[in-house]
Amino acid sequence: MQKFAKRLSLLKPSESMAMSQKVRELRKTMDIVDLTIGQPDFDTPEHIKQAAWRAISDGKNSYTASYGIPELREAIASFYKQYYRANYVPLKEVLVCPGAKQGIMYLMQAFLSPGDEVVLFEPCWLSYADMIFLNEGVPRFIPALENMAPDLKQLESAINCKTKMILLNNPVNPSGYVFRREELAYIVEIAKKHDLLIISDEIYDRITFTEFHSLSQFESARDRSIVVAGFSKNYAMTGWRIAYILAAEEMISRIGLIHQHTATCAASASQYAALAAITGEQSCVDIMCRTYRERRDLLMPLLANSKFKAIMPEGTFYLMLDCAGVDRNTATPAEFLLNKFGIASVDGIFYGASSAQYVRLSLTCGENVLRKAAARLCGGEEKASL
Ligand code: PLP
Repeated sequence: MQKFAKRLSLLKPSESMAMSQKVRELRKTMDIVDLTIGQPDFDTPEHIKQAAWRAISDGKNSYTASYGIPELREAIASFYKQYYRANYVPLKEVLVCPGAKQGIMYLMQAFLSPGDEVVLFEPCWLSYADMIFLNEGVPRFIPALENMAPDLKQLESAINCKTKMILLNNPVNPSGYVFRREELAYIVEIAKKHDLLIISDEIYDRITFTEFHSLSQFESARDRSIVVAGFSKNYAMTGWRIAYILAAEEMISRIGLIHQHTATCAASASQYAALAAITGEQSCVDIMCRTYRERRDLLMPLLANSKFKAIMPEGTFYLMLDCAGVDRNTATPAEFLLNKFGIASVDGIFYGASSAQYVRLSLTCGENVLRKAAARLCGGEEKASL
C-alpha cells in the first residue's frame, strides 16, 4: 500500500512540460507552431563541450569537493567581482550545485519551517510554489500590475509575522521584466526593516536587453541576501545541471549540509564544462543574447498588427501576450491559441492568478517560426492540418 506524505498532494505537474508533451502528440496531425519551450535552442558552445571531454578522459570522474572544485568557485567569485563588482570569498561564499532548481530547493529546505510564508511577485516561475509547498511553507503572491510589472507598493502589506523571505526572479520568467536598481534597493530596505531574507533567482542574468542590477551588488544586505544563478540559460547548458548559490559563509555552510547529504557534489564533468564557460570567451553569451533580442524586435512590431497586445520583455527569451478578448469560460487563452491558430503557448494562470488572461510565448525558435506565429495571430494564416 502506498502511503505518500501529505505534502505531495499539493504538487502539480509542470504545466510547460505538460504542454510540450501535448504539442508532440498534436504534431502528428497538425501543423503546430510550438512556442512553449523554456530552454535555449542553441547547442552548448564547442569549447565548453571539449572541456568536459578532456575532464572525462583525464580521469576526473570521481566525486569532487562537495561545494564544487575550487577553481570553479574561484572563477565564479572573480566573475562576480569583474562583472558586478561584488565580493564573494570563493571557498566560503560560493556553493556549486546541480542546477538552480535544486539550489532553490536547498534554500527552501534550509530556511522554511511549517507555516512560514514566502512573498513572491506575480507573474512568477511555476516551480517556486511547488518547492515552497514541498517544504510546508506558504506562498504569498503579490498580484502583478496591469502591465505585468511587479507591484512593489503591495510588498509591505504582504508581510506578516510568519513571513520568512522575499523570493525574486530577475529577470522574470515569464514576463522578461528586469528590476530597476531603485526597486531592488526598496526590497532590500523592506527586508531589513522586517528582518527577512531575500532570495534572488538570476538564472537569466546575462540575457538582458537593458541595464541589469544583481542583488549581489547590495553589499549592505549580504547577511540576508542569497543569489542563485547558473549556466543553463546563459550558456545553453540546461542538460548539464550546473548552477551556484552565493551567500554569506554562515548561510553557505548550513545550506551546504543539505547539498552534501542529498547530492554530494555537482557532476564532475559539468563542473569542468562550467569552468570553461565562465573563464572562456564570452562572445557565445553575447551572440545568443543578441539573437533573442533580435527575435523580440522582430516579433513585437508584427504582433502590434494583431488584436493581442504583447508586453515588451527586457530580458529572458519569453514574452507575455494579452488574450483579453478570449472567453475564458469556453477555453483557456492557451487552448484558444492552440485551437484557433495552431500556436502552442503556456497559460498565464500558471504564473499567478493576475496573469490569467495572458499566455507565455518562448522565443527559442528561428525567425521563420516567429513570422509564421505572427502571421497566424494577425489573421493572415490560420492553423493548417497536415
Ligand atoms: N529559475 C527560473 C526562473 C527558471 O525559469 C528555470 C528554468 O526554467 C530555472 C530556475 C531552472 O534552472 P536550472 O536549469 O539551473 O535548474
